[in-house]
Amino acid sequence: MHNRSPLPHVFVFPLPLQGPVNCMLKLAELLSLQNIRITFLNTQHIQQRLLSCTDHKSHFKRYANLRFETVPDGLPEDNPRTGDQIPNLLASMEIVAAPIFREMLTVGAYGPDSEAPVTCIIADGIFTFAPGVAGEIGVPLLYFDTISPCGLWAYLCLPKLIEAGEVPFKDDNMDELIMNAPGMEGIIRRRDLPSFCRAKDLDDPLIKLVLREDEHIPLARGLIFNTFQELEAPILSQMRNICPNVYAIGPLHTHLKARLEAETTTSNSIWKEDMSCISWLDMQPLRSVVYVSIGSLVIITKEEFLELWHGLVNSGSRFLWVQRQGSVIGGDMVSETPVELAQGTKERGCIVSWAPQQEVLAHPAVGAFFTHSGWNSSLESIVEGKPMICWPYGVDQQVNSRYVEEVWKLGVDMKDMCDRVVIEKMVKEVMESRKDEFLERADHVAKLAKASVSEGGSSFRDLDRLIDDMKSMRIQATSGRN
Ligand code: UDP
Repeated sequence: MHNRSPLPHVFVFPLPLQGPVNCMLKLAELLSLQNIRITFLNTQHIQQRLLSCTDHKSHFKRYANLRFETVPDGLPEDNPRTGDQIPNLLASMEIVAAPIFREMLTVGAYGPDSEAPVTCIIADGIFTFAPGVAGEIGVPLLYFDTISPCGLWAYLCLPKLIEAGEVPFKDDNMDELIMNAPGMEGIIRRRDLPSFCRAKDLDDPLIKLVLREDEHIPLARGLIFNTFQELEAPILSQMRNICPNVYAIGPLHTHLKARLEAETTTSNSIWKEDMSCISWLDMQPLRSVVYVSIGSLVIITKEEFLELWHGLVNSGSRFLWVQRQGSVIGGDMVSETPVELAQGTKERGCIVSWAPQQEVLAHPAVGAFFTHSGWNSSLESIVEGKPMICWPYGVDQQVNSRYVEEVWKLGVDMKDMCDRVVIEKMVKEVMESRKDEFLERADHVAKLAKASVSEGGSSFRDLDRLIDDMKSMRIQATSGRN
């Protein structure tokens, strides 16, 4: 018999992108606080960037039970790892990283015969190789899809939509309501389905990828979500039909703060945050600023960039705009800045290349968030009670932005449009004409979010259940082998 570790040992493997890594790190911290041993598998690229952009090393030193391992992602170092590269990233992860992951857990340092064998795996839902590895070593797999549950539910409905002939779309009417996504009837139109549903034929590589994910999700012992019951109850109940064991433990960044009783947590940014925007915000009046960010992956054309700029300046609002390096196709700079833009930006704007977003959204000077509707950004906005102007780009963002406008009534959805007149109109709507209505609603939902992670709240209870389950998995895994 081996010298078994007294602690349960959870192996965490996120998709190597800013959003998923951030979420899974928050979960890893929450579990580490509960005497659970964690091994966190990052790609070398992500780990290097965390080390160079944050106080990663000193922050995580406090968790004696948490250790990092790295694998190559298989992409050349100069690959920009932007949203358009995700299919390449996934393919190379499968070829290069998956075999190393398997080896680590079967015959390697964390295998059944090691000093501290892994007792549970948490992997991103897109990693279809994970159930095989979990099966080989006989431990439970929990899938953690860090996109929105409403987005993932639309992914899971894809086989049904194809069978019913709703995807691919039969004509160009993007406003046609979708009938075969249970729980979303009357809400989702063609344009609100995840972006890959716009593919003309079913041989599209993303469609194939999602269909493969759909087959693997039910193989997990449980599904973890970064959401809270009060926000997505109908969707979560649909999810339980696929996998009865659902843990809704978000918003994770707020949950971690609550359990640490801390004002802030580490940002886990893979870009260097420009803190000067906080001093700029300090000088702006209450709720006068629109915060503008398209997240870590979206890339836009020069035309879109200019429309956005004109729209923001013409709205007359103050704005704090994140212009991430590499986010504009063909270079970030317009050759000559039109005078009216330069003037308007000087008077009312602040531009940074990466912001401390959670701090920005919490700032009293921020009145609304112009966002690409990534799920982390949406939740961060929800927690801070900031209404949204949604300009979705891809994947789950199309669904999220629809829910923001139609279901949660937290803002407006600008999908499929990029026109300076529309941008101006929508910014004015959220910042001026419908301001009170949106603020009241945002304040209400923010309170629900915070209550869910407070003692006795729905996410708080689900996290406790997850922790208990992990501890009992250890007993099962150990007794099963001895
Ligand atoms: N973010 C940030 N600073 C920025 C822009 C974004 O810290 O200037 C963070 C943001 O807080 C969020 C993440 O990057 O946690 C973006 O994740 P999201 O799911 O919203 O979008 P993605 O980048 O995956 O498209």
